[in-house]
Amino acid sequence: MNSSDPFFKTSKNSRRSFLQRAGSAMMAAPALSWLSQQSVQAHIPDFAFEGKPLGVALVGLGYYSANQLAPALQQTKACKLTGIVTGTPAKAAEWEKKYSIPKKNIYDYKTFDRIIDNKDIDIVYIVLPNSMHAEYTIRALQAGKHVICEKPMAVSVAECQQMIDAAKKAKRQLSIGYRLHYTPHHQEIMKYGREKPFGAIKIIETSDGFRSGDPNQWRLKKALAGGGAMMDIGIYALQGSRYAVGEEPISVWAQEFKTDPVKFKEVDETILWQLKFPSGAVANSTCSYAASLERLYVTCENGWYEMGPCYGYGAIKGRTSKGEMNLPQVNHQAAQMDDFAQCIVNNTPNRTPGEEGMKDMRVIEAIYKSIETGKVVTLA
Ligand code: NAD
Repeated sequence: MNSSDPFFKTSKNSRRSFLQRAGSAMMAAPALSWLSQQSVQAHIPDFAFEGKPLGVALVGLGYYSANQLAPALQQTKACKLTGIVTGTPAKAAEWEKKYSIPKKNIYDYKTFDRIIDNKDIDIVYIVLPNSMHAEYTIRALQAGKHVICEKPMAVSVAECQQMIDAAKKAKRQLSIGYRLHYTPHHQEIMKYGREKPFGAIKIIETSDGFRSGDPNQWRLKKALAGGGAMMDIGIYALQGSRYAVGEEPISVWAQEFKTDPVKFKEVDETILWQLKFPSGAVANSTCSYAASLERLYVTCENGWYEMGPCYGYGAIKGRTSKGEMNLPQVNHQAAQMDDFAQCIVNNTPNRTPGEEGMKDMRVIEAIYKSIETGKVVTLA
């Protein structure tokens, strides 16, 4: 880890020793499709946090909230689950009981804006279908709350800009749920991108995919998802290549493939894309709803490094041409939310602001444009 890393500046003290000690307690998870991986359970919040943890309200109590975020919020120290927003009364009752949430902190989508009056809630976490992210993020910011919005940030660059503007206007922090930025393994890849310990970065191969199930889910409906595999999981491979190089791509070329045109009538099933970076590094990537794959491989002038599994919730494995990456495992979501809460308390910028989400959306729009036109798209 780099001591000049802003991550360490935001934490008051020994985040580093927490990460080092947490590692000895971990076990590697089997390499499964990443959606079926269990979270890494241990999150040992070894940092000084004085005062009351910040209250978090989850908006949308679907898969990710129920199976990852709410359990992670039982491990956080700087924030805790204090509110919920749901359109399903049965879920409200279940969560009220399970997590001891006071009735006054339970909202539905109609009463949501009343959250402005609720002092128990400092952070609103948007965990809704992609096309609802912009609206609910902006409403939460207008209610004076700090916001974490799930990935993809929105379904267009224009929406991302509106969300960033709303955060500035409200003088509140906006963060995107890029949990991997809070893991030691991905931070190590970012550090290699900055410091180039293996020489200039030449070629990156990184891909992410899983087999999509239910044919009726919102992820297959363009109006709710904005796009298919690319928006949902391709974004991890895109991010991986961007921070592996530490640069923004200057051009993109992409192709789309469908093996099930009925199921994937509205959204992309598999996309292959190539990015060119200013230094001359190139990235070759795939995302797919048709098959399981997840890896990041980087080859440089004087060596290589790779991670896999690397984009799911479980233990991340990595190695370099010099040997294994012996880095600790953390609960991604707990680390992410604790870090955000500390940024709010310390009034420091968070690692994954709206601007970071918008950078990805800009490349995703270029990928779709390249598919549509069959041409290389230049990113200004
Ligand atoms: P989900 O379908 O399980 O849950 C979506 C929730 O939104 C449900 O509670 C549903 O009732 C609610 N909802 C409200 N209005 C809706 C509407 N009009 N149509 C459909 N649902 C509606 O989805 P999920 O897997 O929890 O994903 C939610 C968000 O979280 C997505 O943006 C997704 O990309 C993101 N996510 C992120 C990660 C990650 O690792 N960071 C993992 C999974 C999901």
